[in-house]
Amino acid sequence: MDLTITQDGVSCTDPVWDALSRDLEGVLWETWAGLPTGKPAYAEELHPDRQRAAMESLSCAGCKCPASRSELGMLWVLPVLDHAKDTVWEGARTVTPPMCEDCADKAKLRCPRLRKGYVELRVREAELIGVRGTLHPRPGSGEEPDPAALVLYYSADLPFVVARGLVRELTNVTLVATGPTVP
Ligand SMILES: [Zn+2]
Repeated sequence: MDLTITQDGVSCTDPVWDALSRDLEGVLWETWAGLPTGKPAYAEELHPDRQRAAMESLSCAGCKCPASRSELGMLWVLPVLDHAKDTVWEGARTVTPPMCEDCADKAKLRCPRLRKGYVELRVREAELIGVRGTLHPRPGSGEEPDPAALVLYYSADLPFVVARGLVRELTNVTLVATGPTVP
């Protein structure tokens, strides 16, 4: 999509496309080729439409059924990056939607990122706090776009982002298990 960037923010050059590409918060979303259906590809990132739907409704990232809930909260399985062994999971911000137990068990074995290491969390609260996407610099600033910016709602940067994923902040977190799972 062709973008126009002014001091007011970023927009699609085509005004119809612009209107179709915004969510209720007025945030502009990236449009990707391909259908947001089919089996999970365990790609680095979910298709934005699918990510957004799962994250909005707290449905499973894998199969779209309701995510697993227990008395400790909702099930989240997140990759542990090598450099983040000491990550504090309370207050973690993520673009990964929650999961049902079946999909979590499959993903731990099949997702390349989770096979390197994961944490299984139960989460009582997961507030939507913003989006991840490409943050475009103000015209004339001479800066480069940031392709992986986290932009919070009500941030002055929000009009300048083209979103690719909703971000939730996980609180009241219980660490249930860690991996990798050895098959
Ligand atoms: Zn599932």
